[in-house]
Amino acid sequence: MQVIDTIYIDGAFVTPHGSERFELFNPATEQVIGHVRLADAEDARAAVAAAKRAFPAFSRTPQHERVAMLRRLHAAVAAREDALFDAIVEEYGAPVSRGRWMAQHASNVLRDAADVLEQYTFTRRAGTAQVTMQPLGVAGLITPWNSNAGFICGKLAAALAAGCTAVIKPSEMSAIQTRIVTEALHEAGLPPGVFNIVTGRGDTVGAAISAHPDVAKLSFTGSTAVGKSILRTGAETLKRVTLELGGKSPTIVLDDADFDLAVPLALQAGFMNSGQACIAGTRILVPQARLAEFEAKIVEAVAGIQSGDPRDPRTSIGPMVSRKQWERVQRYIRVGIDEGARLLAGGEGRPDGAPTGWFVRPTVFSGVTNAMTIAREEIFGPVLAIIAYRDTDHAIEIANDTPYGLQAYVCSADTARANAVAARIEAGRVLVNTLAHEPAAPFGGFKQSGIGREYGVAGLEAFLEAKAVIAA
Ligand code: NAD
Repeated sequence: MQVIDTIYIDGAFVTPHGSERFELFNPATEQVIGHVRLADAEDARAAVAAAKRAFPAFSRTPQHERVAMLRRLHAAVAAREDALFDAIVEEYGAPVSRGRWMAQHASNVLRDAADVLEQYTFTRRAGTAQVTMQPLGVAGLITPWNSNAGFICGKLAAALAAGCTAVIKPSEMSAIQTRIVTEALHEAGLPPGVFNIVTGRGDTVGAAISAHPDVAKLSFTGSTAVGKSILRTGAETLKRVTLELGGKSPTIVLDDADFDLAVPLALQAGFMNSGQACIAGTRILVPQARLAEFEAKIVEAVAGIQSGDPRDPRTSIGPMVSRKQWERVQRYIRVGIDEGARLLAGGEGRPDGAPTGWFVRPTVFSGVTNAMTIAREEIFGPVLAIIAYRDTDHAIEIANDTPYGLQAYVCSADTARANAVAARIEAGRVLVNTLAHEPAAPFGGFKQSGIGREYGVAGLEAFLEAKAVIAA
């Protein structure tokens, strides 16, 4: 049983003022595995005050010193990879291959930010002006549960690279991962107050950070609904805001695609992170003329996909993170059936042989129209919708007919053709015949998938503001 009863403020592990006890679960067994004492709004204010005190000195640190700090943070988090991996599997239920990637990603983002910072030029000329990119101030960083350690480290890395100090509000459901990351970050020996980590509820700690006049920047990853409320709250003091929100990403299978490649790619894109991924390719657009062929191949492929014990290396879909998330996914499967979509695979209930645990059957619907609820709303579970299209223009029209615009996938035998389609998709990132991640590239959403970009130079500049000095 893990008992987490401290938060991290001003370089020290301290007992929170908040006293609420929140239970932590293993989603594969539904057992309570620990509890965390949650911070409250007063703790959030103490964390902001510490970050504010640390900002003047930290914002003036030489670039090379911050590069060195990021490299120390990277080494410290990398040294905890195994502990973090265990926590990710136990507390979040990630299958082992995904869990290993997530544990490594948490440290990699710190190294990537160090590399970006090393190459970055903070001053430049613009006509007669000298333009300097200056850190914004105290940054409030709010993260979700579906990749908690990676989001903490990624947002913190960009903020520190810029010279901002930070208050982090991680997901309350990921407190074991947060503790491991916090202990690692603490060991790197940064000045007190440069980063503070306060685990608490969103509507108390998150809201207090979003409203605080001494917070200059908010970087939030989570649902579109909460993102909008943060934007409204932050508007009162004109905070700079980066929002990474939901998605309903299309996987466009062009009519020349080799289905032996496209089907596994579409399933991996759709079921990644057990379907709990903002970038999951949940709408699979297939040419009407080849629909039956695609359906047959996908049914065969889904039969080989294991949803179950995350510690079994054959598993590619682990449990949903919580009972609430499991019930949400079940509700969407029922809505899909009720609205007349045709179940090709999966359906309601748990997979065979899983009496407990928040497991979902890998589910694929066909006969879906883009107007159906399961094609419009983010489900955040392993539930995919196949939508047939007439021709390429129709496919692009369907792909763009969504309030979201985070990511898209295009599969084709002809890369030039796929690139031409990618150019017409309204999404922040388009992957052509690949699932590869590029840490140097900006990441973020068009439309209601968000505002701003993370990673690379764009991610660094999201924590900076330009100042022009024009001298006689
Ligand atoms: P959520 O929006 O409920 O919570 C995200 C974070 O915000 C949590 O830390 C939560 O405590 C906090 N929060 C909640 N209410 C708040 C408030 N009023 N003020 C301030 N903070 C508040 O999302 P979730 O359920 O944790 O995560 C799932 C969602 O995250 C999905 O919609 C998914 O698409 C999205 N997501 C987006 C990305 C991306 O990069 N675009 C990545 C992962 C997840």
